Amino acid sequence: MRIDVHTHVWPEKIAELTREAMARDTGFQAVSGNTVDALKSHMGESGVDKSVVLGIVDRPDQVSRANDWLISIQDEMLVPFGAIHPGLENKADEVRRLRQAGIKGIKLHPVMNRFYPDDPQMFPVYEELGGDMVLEIHTGRLPTSKPGDPVYAAPERVMNVVRRFPRLKVIALHLGGFYMLDEAERDLLGRENVFIDTTWPPSLKEVAGETLAAIIDKHGSHRVCFGTDYPLASQSADSEYIQRLGISDGDAEGILGENARQFIGL
Ligand SMILES: [Zn+2]
Repeated sequence: MRIDVHTHVWPEKIAELTREAMARDTGFQAVSGNTVDALKSHMGESGVDKSVVLGIVDRPDQVSRANDWLISIQDEMLVPFGAIHPGLENKADEVRRLRQAGIKGIKLHPVMNRFYPDDPQMFPVYEELGGDMVLEIHTGRLPTSKPGDPVYAAPERVMNVVRRFPRLKVIALHLGGFYMLDEAERDLLGRENVFIDTTWPPSLKEVAGETLAAIIDKHGSHRVCFGTDYPLASQSADSEYIQRLGISDGDAEGILGENARQFIGL
């Protein structure tokens, strides 16, 4: 089974607006539409069976509406993860509501929402996720980060959470450190209790094959999941790149879906 653990789509009504905002915020152009229908047709063309759709919000007052919509798009192909904002008052209650609605995880974006993941205000969220729901967390910088910007999601910060909550199921996105691969190698890769994903828009090819193979080897291929950031990258191009790395067929099958299937429980 092929699973992409990292995609973004929005309701039709605001899709165009968010697509423009995403292009502006990241500097990347979308490869396709950011709607449910566009993602499903891209999955069909790419041979992907399931996509995890990650919720993102700018403000705390958007959380419950965003999550209502995410809950509504669950089906055989789409596995939505809820959005949680640090400014939300009853964060643990929202996690509980998501669980009751069948949602299997949440996404946190410390850079966009400007918070440190190891800030104690977030601990009730991690406690509520328990040992069953998955936390996908942006790790590293953004393409638009400038020198001197606070580094909210350094691999070390994510590892502080992993160590404090050893039961928590964590996927550190972007190979464990977007634009921070040296820090990821030092502080996160090969450590216990944390998975990573392969999301590297606009194309995983930007990471040299040798480097990617070394990251997979160091962290352990059984704890690496395929992710793309669709619509900012192509599922077919990135999955083909992984298959051409020269890793074993078994390892590739794990990365491209089996690891996520077991970890998320799909
Ligand atoms: Zn993303």
